[in-house]
Amino acid sequence: MKRDGNAPRHQTIGLEDKVYIAGHRGLVGSALTRRLTREGFKNLILRTRQELDLADQRAVDAFFRKERPDYVFLAAARVGGILANHTRPAEFIMENLAIAVNVIGAAHRSEVKKLLFLGSSCIYPRHCPQPIKEDYLLTGSLEPTNEPYAVAKIAGIHLCQAYNRQYGTRYICAMPANLYGPGDNFDLETSHVLPALIRRFHEAKTAGAAAVTVWGTGTPRREFLHVDDLADACLFLMREYDDPAIINVGVGEDLSIRELAELVAEVVGYQGRLVFDPSKPDGTPRKLLDVSRLSRLGWRASIPLREGIEQTYRWYLANFAGHAPHSAGSREDTVKG
Ligand code: GDP
Repeated sequence: MKRDGNAPRHQTIGLEDKVYIAGHRGLVGSALTRRLTREGFKNLILRTRQELDLADQRAVDAFFRKERPDYVFLAAARVGGILANHTRPAEFIMENLAIAVNVIGAAHRSEVKKLLFLGSSCIYPRHCPQPIKEDYLLTGSLEPTNEPYAVAKIAGIHLCQAYNRQYGTRYICAMPANLYGPGDNFDLETSHVLPALIRRFHEAKTAGAAAVTVWGTGTPRREFLHVDDLADACLFLMREYDDPAIINVGVGEDLSIRELAELVAEVVGYQGRLVFDPSKPDGTPRKLLDVSRLSRLGWRASIPLREGIEQTYRWYLANFAGHAPHSAGSREDTVKG
């Protein structure tokens, strides 16, 4: 689509626009690519990490100057579960800061019309009231197990807001709940809880193991959003949302890790015992997003948790079960919950 310097301020994303999905191989980026393709978008711009290293500012600038995307979904990030965040804090803060600085800066320099930046529910203070309203950002200290990641994501939000204020750009920021779905990372050391449990229960069932170990006490509560719901919300927000204030994306319900483990065991068909390992960190006690801002705009999640887990288990069976474990913590993946 031709760039028009005098275009109306609130023009919206169209099927002919050039749309760059940063991180299209990751959990969120691949869901967005599926969603936009299904919608009929004709000019998706996609680059693997080998083709474009988002930590390389000159390469990112050159890419934006050449391709001149109209719209950008920034779904690239270094992500991982509670243990990966704990063991590799330097990478989690450095790479996520670099991606935010490089992509948002280049978007501004090449006059991108609108950008959606993905954050995470872990940006909120560890002890904030539940459900978590967007306004609680920066009202208290963060959960230590993912503080470096959270600080990088908060910096990304502030970058977007600063550019909006100073230059009148349209950079919006969505904060999803803990994500799961097809394309997730199933590596037991670096994954998030839901894919880890699918794999543990599947392997225990196959091996006829009497018990499965679940990290922590089982009491922390988490909210799980299917990544296809998130992709739908991202497109909705790109079309409908033009406020610099961050916006939560979730389902509005949570459950304990014990309840989640029981549900995954049921879906997988594992009938042995659950054993909790309190030597592993629990992380933040509860993370339930207040989704009223998004509901008022007219969007709600549609994939029930059980159905989402069943579908993700089928994907795991088709793609991983019996294969070599896949390497984890991809930088093209996104959004740690
Ligand atoms: P968090 O939301 O940032 O804490 O991310 P995680 O998905 O990594 O962990 C969520 C909760 O699940 C924490 O309380 C973990 O201790 C617990 N958990 C239980 N078993 C596992 C597991 O096998 N892997 C992970 N990552 N977490 C687990």
